[in-house]
Amino acid sequence: MFCTSCGEKNSAGASYCAMCGTELSHAIPVAQSDPRDPLDFEDLDRLERRTSGASRRVENNLAKALLATFFCCLPLGVVAVVFAAQVDGRTRAGDYNGARRLAAQADTWANFSIGLGLVGGMIYFLAMMVASGI
Ligand SMILES: [Zn+2]
Repeated sequence: MFCTSCGEKNSAGASYCAMCGTELSHAIPVAQSDPRDPLDFEDLDRLERRTSGASRRVENNLAKALLATFFCCLPLGVVAVVFAAQVDGRTRAGDYNGARRLAAQADTWANFSIGLGLVGGMIYFLAMMVASGI
């Protein structure tokens, strides 16, 4: 927990601040904050996104797109890979909306490819059953 007086980080069990000696029970845990606090969850989410670099990363769905390409329907999977490959570049350029749009496109095409792959596999399986006279 952080000292309310000097901001020093103290261990969770500490009763007094190691830096200035302030009693740490005065520190306000997040759960007990005033319910009338103007910061709602959306604000907190925005704040977190602004301050934390990690959460700015847009999932590019590249792994899924590649899987869809190799195991399912190749042409559709390639489309997914093409979209997914552009996501990181957009993210680096600061175009988060564009990056998210591309990631969504990649996801859609990957799902489409996987879906077709499954349907194709099923048809193939049924055809084999019929052909072998079961
Ligand atoms: Zn302190």
